[in-house]
Formats: sequence, C-alpha cells, structure tokens
Amino acid sequence: MKKIEMVDLKGQYKEIEQEIRKSLNQVLHSTQFIKGPDVSEFERDLEKYLGVNNAIACGSGTDALQIALMSLELNPGEEIITTDFTFAATIEVILLLGLKPILVDIDPKTFNIDPNKVKEALTKKTKAIIPVHLFGQISNMDEILNIAKENKLFIIEDNAQSMGSTYTFLNGEKKKAGTIGDIGTTSFFPSKNLGAYGDGGAIFTDNNEFADRIRAISNHGMYKRYYHDLLGVNSRLDSLQAAILKVKLKYLDSYNQKRQNAANEYNNALKNHENIITPFHNISRSSHVYHQYTIRVTNSDRDKLAEHLSGDNIPYGIYYPLPLHKQKAYHNDSYIEDNFKVTNKMVNEVISLPMHSELDENQIDYISSSIKSFFKNK
Ligand SMILES: *Cc1c(COP(=O)(O)O)cnc(C)c1O
Repeated sequence: MKKIEMVDLKGQYKEIEQEIRKSLNQVLHSTQFIKGPDVSEFERDLEKYLGVNNAIACGSGTDALQIALMSLELNPGEEIITTDFTFAATIEVILLLGLKPILVDIDPKTFNIDPNKVKEALTKKTKAIIPVHLFGQISNMDEILNIAKENKLFIIEDNAQSMGSTYTFLNGEKKKAGTIGDIGTTSFFPSKNLGAYGDGGAIFTDNNEFADRIRAISNHGMYKRYYHDLLGVNSRLDSLQAAILKVKLKYLDSYNQKRQNAANEYNNALKNHENIITPFHNISRSSHVYHQYTIRVTNSDRDKLAEHLSGDNIPYGIYYPLPLHKQKAYHNDSYIEDNFKVTNKMVNEVISLPMHSELDENQIDYISSSIKSFFKNK
C-alpha cells in the first residue's frame, strides 16, 4: 500500500507534470511575471467555468476576503455576521478593517452557518453576511439570500473550501459556489480543491461596478496607472501560479469526482456505526466536493481515536479545535457561551480523515478498518 497522506500533492503532480512544466516554461520564456497574459487567461477560464461575469485573481484567499470587504466601502464599527466555525482568515479581515464581527452558531448537520442564528443576530448596524461553505458543501443560500434581501445586506461567500460545488435553489435554478452572493472569494492554497504551488486567491462577482473597484483595490487602488483613487493593497496572482492553475482548472471536476468516490467508500465502510456520524450531505440543495471528509465521534473518544490513527501511521486533521469566539486574538466579552452550543460541541467531536484525489480503495479500507478496530477493542 502507498504511504497515506492527508493530501497527496506529489501523486497529483506526477499525473500532470508534463503539462505543468510546459505551461511554466512559456511564462519563464515570456518573463511576464506580473499581470501577464496567463493571469488574464486564467481569469477568463474561471469566469467560463463558474458562469460569472467577473473573476479577479489576487494574492491569497485571505486577501480575496479583505479586498471584497474593502470594495463594499463600509464604515468602522458596522457589523458583519459570520460563522463561529471556520478558518481564522474569515474573521481576521473583518477586524483588520475596523469592522465588527458578529459570530453565530452553525447547523450541526452541515457545519455551515445557521440562518436562524443569522436572523437573531441582526441589528441596525448589520451590513453584510459572510457564509463560509465549509468542507465542500454550500450553506443554505435560499435562506441567506432572503435575509439579505429583506434587510438590505451584502453577501460575501467565503468559498475557499467548495470550489466546483453547485447549489440548487428551491425553485430549481442552479449556481456554482462563489457566484451566488454579491461577491464570492476563494483560495488557491496548495491543499485546497483547486490548489496552486504557492499562495493565490480569486474574487468573483456579476456586478461590474464591484469588479472595477476590486480590480483597482487589489492593485494599489489604481484605475489608471499611478493615479490612486482608492486606498488599495498589493495583491496579485503571479503568472507562474496562473500558468499552473490554468492547467489544474481543467481537472477540477475530475478531482472533485475522485474525492466524491473516496467519500462514498468511506461512507459505506463507516455507516451505521454507533460511535460515528458520517458527513451529512444535503443532496437536493448542494453538491459536496469534500474538501474535508469530517466525521463526528459521539462518545467522547475523539482524541483517543486520533492517537490510535497516528499509531497506525494514518494522518488526520482536527478542523477546528477551538471555535473563533474562544480564540485569544478575537475574544470579546459580549460572547455568551449559550449562543455557541453547537460549535462548542463540534470542536470536541470532529476529526477529518485523509481526503484527496489520489486516495485509493486499499488505503480507505485500511483507514476504515483501523477506526472500526479502535472502537471494537476499547
Ligand atoms: C484557506 C481558507 C482561507 C484563506 O485562504 P489563504 O489562501 O490561505 O489565505 C479563508 N477561508 C477559509 C474558509 C479557508 O479554508
């Protein structure tokens, strides 16, 4: 059996090495390293793939969130509602811009933001909602769009973990993750479903006015070279990363399909186990692209299981071990523990198993057997 990796970037690279090298060579020969044709070609490819008017590449997923927020031109102290159960980047940028994050609890089935909790958190100062499509599945966008419409709020979708996922609205209409709200963002961090070989990110919007502002902000606030109309940042995707991503975007659907196949095999092996809840998939609303395959261990043995997996040379991840409202850097005395019952529970139950496009049946059998034997031999 091949050595089990949490994410097997080497195995994936071997499959596309020739194509990647050719694409990189073209950039090296052209020496157009910043804002070269590869970046705009990749942006056009993304627009076509997602069915969105504008895709703007930038330096990282965190930058994408920051630039998206900056483009809304909000005032300090205005409130942004987001989930308590996400990667730090989502809240960091809110705080960095002097805005006020309002964290809310999640739906225990999907791990995504709970629309009812969003409603309860609304105030006169609320300006935007940032749903995070966690682990590969899209948040309840029918509800979130309704709330935003009724209360005149912006929606920024943090789509760092669900590239390629499709949402089906209650009326049957379909849209790709990241193109549903006013603005969507993603990350090309190497381990994401569409990963570069370094940092990268992108911002999506159908609104051309937002798009112009976002392009300017990401390039020092310039609409015209050396005329700085907006306060901006330097956040650009470099051409070498674009050349890699252009190749990998063509394979995104097949990579996601392989992740789904792996998830099905895990599900079959682990379903109906008394101590495990396998990932819930709301099939009629959202596809699941399994950025993570995250199970819940319901008998308080999560940490012991983790230790057992390590003993069997099986890597794992705990996403996330501490909810945002309890993190030192973001702590705020107004947070009431009673409001975070679900996240407080999930951080003790979740464990993510190896998941990537190169995972094979033997490896999944080995991992599943190791888990089952842990519970049997307790
Ligand atoms: C990875 C990630 C980000 C940040 O992306 P970077 O490219 O690493 O800056 C933001 N939000 C979520 C939910 C993520 O998973």
